[in-house]
Amino acid sequence: MTPRCCDLHMHSTHSDGTMTPRELVLLAKESGLSAVALTDHDTTSGMAEMQEAGRELGVRVLSGVEISVDYAGKTVHMLGYCFDTAGEHLQNALDELVRGRTERNHEIVRKLQGHGIDICYDEVVAESGGKVVGRPHFAAVLLRKGAVENWQQAFDEYLASGAKAYVDRLKFSPEDSVRMIRDAGGVAVLAHPKFVRLQEGEQIVDVVERLVEAGLGGIECWYSMHSPDETNYYLEIARRFNLVVTGGSDFHGGVKPDISMGTGQGSLCVPLSCADAIEAAAKSGGSRP
Ligand code: AMP
Ligand code: FE
Ligand code: FE
Ligand code: ZN
Repeated sequence: MTPRCCDLHMHSTHSDGTMTPRELVLLAKESGLSAVALTDHDTTSGMAEMQEAGRELGVRVLSGVEISVDYAGKTVHMLGYCFDTAGEHLQNALDELVRGRTERNHEIVRKLQGHGIDICYDEVVAESGGKVVGRPHFAAVLLRKGAVENWQQAFDEYLASGAKAYVDRLKFSPEDSVRMIRDAGGVAVLAHPKFVRLQEGEQIVDVVERLVEAGLGGIECWYSMHSPDETNYYLEIARRFNLVVTGGSDFHGGVKPDISMGTGQGSLCVPLSCADAIEAAAKSGGSRP
């Protein structure tokens, strides 16, 4: 790993990752990364520890978060970067999302029980370590109990959209999602465009255009699961809409062992200029540079 790489997408024990923020920074240092951002789902509760470890170990740490956004009935992941974690509007909005999650989670438990699975919410909370609880924690509990044979079966049979125990949860519109990030001084970035489920005849540029109208400032072009062709295509879209380019591995630690910090599935190297660009965009108001 050259020292000119960064990783702007990773999860800690504060959401569905398996390493603490401090452990992430230690691994980043060992891996020779120059900058990292913590992008836990719906929470910034790991940021203080991450930033303190960054100062101590000499690794640049950017603030981050990942939220699920309702885009015309489908879910799109949005990243927020370089915001003030004390921002009141942002924190209130994240609290609301976590409340929506908790309601959804209780409903998933009821549905699983209805399918004869012996499960209670406390077990799922224990699995999460008491932080933001998500479907991956349900998958882990189902697997441990032998209700499913593997992680993917837990999703396919019970947890994925349309499966037996699927329940939707509160999500904000693109406009509200961008606002909550920009009000705190940050930049909103479309995460892993490869995973946006397109309708027939729809293209990713259509989605990006609509999100740009809502105030999107960047796009995650470099990503573990993007092929070189896909990366180039997204870089082209970034140029077309004058968006900041970001990138990251989406490292989750032991629950997604095929993804390594920094290098993703082996060949990822996000240029450090992405970290500089996103910081500059935040300083200039969170919109396009
Ligand atoms: P949540 O935010 O609690 O609704 O959980 C979303 C997470 O569940 C995603 O970030 C994925 O890690 C995982 N996930 C969602 N759908 C699937 C699926 N069909 N197969 C595998 N994992 C999934
Ligand atoms: Fe996750
Ligand atoms: Fe995501
Ligand atoms: Zn992620």
